[in-house]
Amino acid sequence: MNQFTRSGAALANQVKGLGITNPVVLDALASIPRHLFVEQVLAHKAYENTALPIGQGQTISQPYIVGKMTQILVEHGVTSNVLEIGTGSGYQAAILGRVFKNVFSVERIRQLQLIAKRRLQKLDIYNVQMKHGDGWLGWESKAPFDAIIVTAAPSSIPAALKEQLKDGGILVLPLGTENQTLVTVTRQGDEYLEVHHEAVKFVPLVSGDTA
Ligand code: SAH
Repeated sequence: MNQFTRSGAALANQVKGLGITNPVVLDALASIPRHLFVEQVLAHKAYENTALPIGQGQTISQPYIVGKMTQILVEHGVTSNVLEIGTGSGYQAAILGRVFKNVFSVERIRQLQLIAKRRLQKLDIYNVQMKHGDGWLGWESKAPFDAIIVTAAPSSIPAALKEQLKDGGILVLPLGTENQTLVTVTRQGDEYLEVHHEAVKFVPLVSGDTA
């Protein structure tokens, strides 16, 4: 076992203590080398359970919340066709790629999107398709999705994301501006069941032009 696989295992163990108990999710957290998703100067902090800056005012999410959101999807029975909004570093996308069959991810900042794409190629993760675009619009040509995970906080639930959910599908997102809550929305035909979970802190889901 090298230094980084040991660190990955320790990180998985740490989030396990916080309630992420699904073995598939824990395996994914243990196996993805998180230090490759941050700049080299921050690599020594990569296996701590904290969010870290990734440039352009954005952050790589805290491993606990990555695990939590992924676990919600697994427990819902999702196995494939997951859309992520907010690729950022690509870390959450890599985790999703390990857990689910087909994954799609949209990022509005082209520079981040390109770097994330390269990281996943380097790790031989080929079941994650990425595009540069506005996440408020989802990814219509790939819809409907079994699950959609939003990793930046909108002030209201984007209508397109609800529309692009499969019947029975689940949307998980941080909702709000100053005070944010982790919310799940499950689709039952034309009905959407909203459940509010714990308080969270994400960067905002930006409206308007891409960068
Ligand atoms: N899932 C990421 C976390 C990234 S932080 C990771 O694992 O690293 C949130 C990301 O959402 C940022 O990269 C930001 O640029 C992106 N974002 C914000 N508004 C967006 C929008 N409207 N469409 C797509 N991406 C957006």
